[in-house]
Amino acid sequence: MPRPLSATIHVDAMRSNLALARRRAQGQRIWAVVKANAYGHGLLNAMQGFAEADGLALIEFDGAAKLRQSGWQAPILMLEGAFDEQDVDQAMRQQLSLVVHHEEQLRMLELARPSQSFSLCLKVNTGMNRLGFRPQDVPSALARLRALPHLDELVCVTHYANADDAEASLSPRSQDECFKQALSEQDLPSSLANSAATLWQNPVPGDWIRPGIMLYGASPGAGFGPQLGLQPAMSLHSRLIAIQQVKAGEAVGYGSRFVASQDMRVGVIACGYADGYPRSAPDGTPILVDGIRCTMAGRVSMDMITVDLSPVSQARVGSAVELWGKHLSIDEVAQAAGTIGYELMCALAPRVPMHVDGL
Ligand SMILES: *Cc1c(COP(=O)(O)O)cnc(C)c1O
Repeated sequence: MPRPLSATIHVDAMRSNLALARRRAQGQRIWAVVKANAYGHGLLNAMQGFAEADGLALIEFDGAAKLRQSGWQAPILMLEGAFDEQDVDQAMRQQLSLVVHHEEQLRMLELARPSQSFSLCLKVNTGMNRLGFRPQDVPSALARLRALPHLDELVCVTHYANADDAEASLSPRSQDECFKQALSEQDLPSSLANSAATLWQNPVPGDWIRPGIMLYGASPGAGFGPQLGLQPAMSLHSRLIAIQQVKAGEAVGYGSRFVASQDMRVGVIACGYADGYPRSAPDGTPILVDGIRCTMAGRVSMDMITVDLSPVSQARVGSAVELWGKHLSIDEVAQAAGTIGYELMCALAPRVPMHVDGL
């Protein structure tokens, strides 16, 4: 029998979340963000789930090639642009839109001598200080881009540091203002909104939006995905592979972190940090056993998790376990473990078999 751990990807949940982004956007076009193997959900699963998107956006050039080979014909945006000249060549051949965020990338484009039309996005650093041209350097960068032969669409993009926090010192409004000033006089389409801006800014800014995490059913900030009307696109399921009768005063697992305060049953689950479950999860982290909420008891080990079975007297070896998914929000597990849903879904390990439903 195979190890009982598996992930299920819910393609219909992706469709539903994309539709929610579409309703929030009210007419803007959508680049569905599928970097990092579609946040761990599988690139080709996401291609199905986001078939109605206007484009897909990612970082990885091998992923972009795979999308084209698999028949994706709509726009593909490379969010960090080209890393070298070969990437520029591939972008021209496969009609990938490149972000241009740095002088070095401008130079590569000027040397590329394209023979067919292509699209670009100029990235403006509006205060996050990660990628992009400073506002005062935008006019000259734009002039150089416009001088490139065969340039088709040109979009200006920036990224929010605090899209969920209007009170932040670097607020979305201050970044909007900076963006507007950098592009004064220029009538170019723009793209600013990630998931947080798509969910929480009114109106949602820009001509294209770039939602990622919300399309997978998790929250980009406050609250859990389902409270925001989102449907979880990944469920992680396993089973109990052993049960221990632990006596009061005995400890469980590495470092003897959990000590039983009374006689109790502890279940052992086939799933550990080598599967992508966060080792930082403390005692008390929620886990569903036979559909009933239980709590972690003892440190996460490489291949196993231990759980307090007190709430579920009927639990047996073989009982079904949900680590996260439709009945336990990945955001809640992430919060307990001191991280974010993004990190959990992206960390799902290759050794976990993936099933797809809703295709
Ligand atoms: C990852 C990414 C996004 C999507 O962000 P979410 O918070 O997942 O919605 C949007 N834009 C850029 C440039 C990104 O790198």
